Amino acid sequence: MDGTEHPVDVCDVVVVGAGIVGAAVAARLARQGMRVAVLEAQQVAGGATGRSAGLLLTGMPGHYRWAVQSFGRETARALWELSVEGRERLMETAIRLGVSAERTGSMALAVTEEEVDVLRASAELLREDGFEAWFGKTDPLQRGFLAAMRCPDDGVVDAADLTRALLASAPVIVHTGTEVQALEAEGAGVRVWAYRRTVRCGAVVMTAGGYAPTLEPSLSRWVNPGHALWVVARPQAGPDRPALGFPCYTDYGYEYARSLSDGCLLLGAWRYPRRPSSSGNFPDPDTVLRAGLSRFVRRYFPGVEGNVIRRESGTVGCTPDGVPVVGALSHLPGVYFALGLGGWGLCWAFVVADRVVEMMLDGVSAGLLDAERRIRTV
Ligand SMILES: Cc1cc2nc3c(=O)[nH]c(=O)nc-3n(C[C@H](O)[C@H](O)[C@H](O)COP(=O)(O)OP(=O)(O)OC[C@H]3O[C@@H](n4cnc5c(N)ncnc54)[C@H](O)[C@@H]3O)c2cc1C
Repeated sequence: MDGTEHPVDVCDVVVVGAGIVGAAVAARLARQGMRVAVLEAQQVAGGATGRSAGLLLTGMPGHYRWAVQSFGRETARALWELSVEGRERLMETAIRLGVSAERTGSMALAVTEEEVDVLRASAELLREDGFEAWFGKTDPLQRGFLAAMRCPDDGVVDAADLTRALLASAPVIVHTGTEVQALEAEGAGVRVWAYRRTVRCGAVVMTAGGYAPTLEPSLSRWVNPGHALWVVARPQAGPDRPALGFPCYTDYGYEYARSLSDGCLLLGAWRYPRRPSSSGNFPDPDTVLRAGLSRFVRRYFPGVEGNVIRRESGTVGCTPDGVPVVGALSHLPGVYFALGLGGWGLCWAFVVADRVVEMMLDGVSAGLLDAERRIRTV
């Protein structure tokens, strides 16, 4: 707050953050007849969404066997079903709004013998649980990977375009360059203090991604920043392997690659420093990320390191168990949050948006995504 006179707006709901989740929440509420204002610190899709590599992958990193071992079979299956719901909602919405999205399928690739076993087991478990997945101890890319698992229903999407299209599709007021600085209880509603603007509203939905704890420190109980980056490189000159016809990911989902329409390669990585190193400190995430991506590129895409034409990096919100989180602040009635989508956030965006709206309007629990959940960890 800078002490100058600001306009005071009034609306039903303020959405903090114009990423894909904020856009989905705002569009849905506006279609239901509510007066909605989106306050965005940067520009629309200025956070993780605008930097997304566009891979629409079902589930969570770690492969399905990890989820089964971590949460138990029933919960893992229910989580995958939720992410399928999110993937399908996103695909349908992109097609309806004329946004570039394609169901290419995806390919998980193993880089160690241990990961080969995990992929084989994951494909079996997925099929037993009713999801499509095929495993082969082959490397369709001929780049030195040890095995592959194909999931036919994944795809690619332009997440930034989808966010802009969603906001344009409904009567939503969007204020960009308007960082929210504080939230305050006021009567039965909330007063939102933002850069050069104050809004009085009935409720707030926080969809500020990995930045949310900066605005509301109590949210660090659930969500903390993770880091992601990618580079775009021209493939080597001369006879080369064919373009990747689908997005690929490897090393349990922490490195990824796809071909772009101009023939360039997008190569990326993301990390969430869950545990400190033996010295007790968290390693510098940028250093870890860059080192991981360099190793990946040198080993599996040799020759492209010198051909990088673009770099992008950003912050994602991550939860300790890897599952997105939907909840309400107990000390500030009327403030809800939908956060923690992590590095595979796109397949979760619409599910998370729907659950937070249902929680706010109907008092419905978000089930497995609920902040007060007790996911069984085996
Ligand atoms: C480099 C990179 C590559 C990625 N690639 C993929 C991928 O290929 N596939 C995939 O599924 N996921 C990917 N992700 C993750 C995915 O992009 C995110 O999970 C998803 O976009 C999160 O959406 P969101 O709306 O929750 O957050 P965001 O898109 O981060 O939106 C939050 C918004 O809130 C705004 N904000 C923050 N604080 C305030 C404040 N105080 N006031 C007002 N506004 C505020 C921010 O500016 C931002 O625009 C990637 C992420 C990155 C960074």
